Amino acid sequence: MKYQCPVCFYDELPYPPADYHICLCCGTEFGNDDADFSHAQLREMWVGSGAPWFFRNPPADWNPWAQLLKAGMLATMAGSETGFIIDSAFASISGDVDYQKQEVLIAEEFSRTDWEALEISERELAGVEG
Ligand SMILES: [Zn+2]
Repeated sequence: MKYQCPVCFYDELPYPPADYHICLCCGTEFGNDDADFSHAQLREMWVGSGAPWFFRNPPADWNPWAQLLKAGMLATMAGSETGFIIDSAFASISGDVDYQKQEVLIAEEFSRTDWEALEISERELAGVEG
């Protein structure tokens, strides 16, 4: 059985989000971190720091924006103070800032190939041979 993190919506947790387990994705310690902050606040902080993967290496096809999009959270968060991070994450890929109106369409359009292309272009910008 897999469980979903209520903060980042990663849905492959091997244990329930409770009892001081830690989310592999966002690093939330359940019962500790979420005693001090709401899940929404923890999500804002995670996204605000660039939505990094927490434990070792992320799954090969993992993408935090796709994960939030799938959970229906991007439109909700777009109006928040971290909205600009999400805006730029999507705009840099698609050149289309109207994604909020077209969440489903964009989810379909952002195939894995697009994410890989982004990663490749980022590597090229960093001057690393792929
Ligand atoms: Zn999480």
